[in-house]
Amino acid sequence: MTGLKEHIVMLPFTAHGHLIPFLALAKKIQQRTGFTITLVSTPLNVKYLENTISKDSSQESKINLESLPFNSAEHGLPPNTENTEALPLDQIIKLFHAAATLEDAFRRLISNIIEKDGHPPLCIISDVFAGWTNDVAKDFGTINVSFTTGGAYGTAAYVSIWQNLPHRSSGKNEFSLPGFPDSCSFHITHMHRYLQAADGTDEWSKFFQPQISNSMKSLGWLCNTVEEIETFGLDVLRKYIKLPVWCIGPLLPSQMLQKDSSSESKIINQHSGREPGLPTEKCLEWLDIHPECSVLYISFGSQNTVSPSQMMALAMGLENAGIPFIWAIRPPFGFDPRGEFRSEWLPEGFEERIKQRNQGLLVHKWAPQLEILCHKSTAALLSHCGWNSIMESLSQGVPIIGWPLAAEQGYNLKMIVEEMGVGVELTRGLQTTLKKEEVERVINVVMGKGGKGEEMKRKAVEIRKLIRAAAINEEEGHTGSSFQALDDFISAIYPTKSC
Ligand code: UDP
Repeated sequence: MTGLKEHIVMLPFTAHGHLIPFLALAKKIQQRTGFTITLVSTPLNVKYLENTISKDSSQESKINLESLPFNSAEHGLPPNTENTEALPLDQIIKLFHAAATLEDAFRRLISNIIEKDGHPPLCIISDVFAGWTNDVAKDFGTINVSFTTGGAYGTAAYVSIWQNLPHRSSGKNEFSLPGFPDSCSFHITHMHRYLQAADGTDEWSKFFQPQISNSMKSLGWLCNTVEEIETFGLDVLRKYIKLPVWCIGPLLPSQMLQKDSSSESKIINQHSGREPGLPTEKCLEWLDIHPECSVLYISFGSQNTVSPSQMMALAMGLENAGIPFIWAIRPPFGFDPRGEFRSEWLPEGFEERIKQRNQGLLVHKWAPQLEILCHKSTAALLSHCGWNSIMESLSQGVPIIGWPLAAEQGYNLKMIVEEMGVGVELTRGLQTTLKKEEVERVINVVMGKGGKGEEMKRKAVEIRKLIRAAAINEEEGHTGSSFQALDDFISAIYPTKSC
């Protein structure tokens, strides 16, 4: 750590969907300002970040990584469990509470930084789920800024629902949400099941309510979105939290945002910190043999999966739809996420048939999602609607078939369907009975010629343009809104420094 430079300390929540955008934000701030950036997590997550940084050939990273001691067993978690990967859904709440116990070690780290630098860090950027850092920042004489790795609409809905539990107060399944106009009605099935059951006294409420309230004491929130694509969601979020919101997204590798990246095969190497299910080259070769805009990519993100019966129906629907597909596939819900994949979870002979016909490619473990979405053969994404996946897909003009499974994914889907017009819902959650005919029907709507599918594609391409324009940095006399927002954020924490 240098003694003279300004220093920013960053603390993500311990899940890949948070670590990845935090690392990307760290690099962006570092490149823009030259400040020292320290990214803090638990030992195994730091190892994952180290791997990701060391395999990123595109740039030399100067981010400091610091580990806080963590013993998962002390929190009733399985051994060596420090993130949501392979953690059964019903145990995730233990990880949330465990993450909040990092406070003492984090305070020691800030003390050490002050001792070395001779002054407090310029700012702490913490996850919205780590609102407790506001007290730490205050005690050490620095500023706290929160970073939401979600989009504006999804974050606004999530925050308002946790704070107001409107399904409890109204006693209804359909309700309006404080902060949102009455016309924008929400349904209980948009919520994940722990939120549906929350009443303010359960373990989920006990974690989320104080963390969110504390995050509302920050100087402002950084948001991984783009001003021009979420005007409605941003308006709601800003009015609700009554704080500045800086839209600094998309936090994606620059190769994905080049003007004409639609798209030759390329290796982006973004998430190589995870064990690949198949070498990236193999996936790209498979895509190369398929016509332009013909392939459906299916992924439920870094931690979610579907029920055994849903997996069966999805496989049958895909096969009947006859379209080529790549499926990032994990054991179904109820089975060890790290365990071997069993062919009995799929229809008999499915794997052989799709292989023989070159119809489908199954990628176990980790798929090279960015490369797949950038490839010109990819036509649509079937997704759990995690925010990173949505931004990655829309940055390539790829429309989305939505199947939300947890967190704020139901609201993300609602937004891309109702506000953006770039998505269609397949189903919601793990409890539904999915019919293979419905899978086929929705695929035909999105990937079929004419009608709604083409309209969605047109809108997705429009959004791609807006996302790319926002990411332009001082080219041809133009600075995109996301770069401007980054500069505005830096001016807010460091008013004397002009970027
Ligand atoms: N991802 C990937 N390969 C996979 C699954 C996920 O590269 O097989 C990446 C994906 O590109 C995205 C992140 O993992 O950047 C998932 O984040 P998201 O917010 O979509 O969902 P979460 O995993 O947080 O539910």
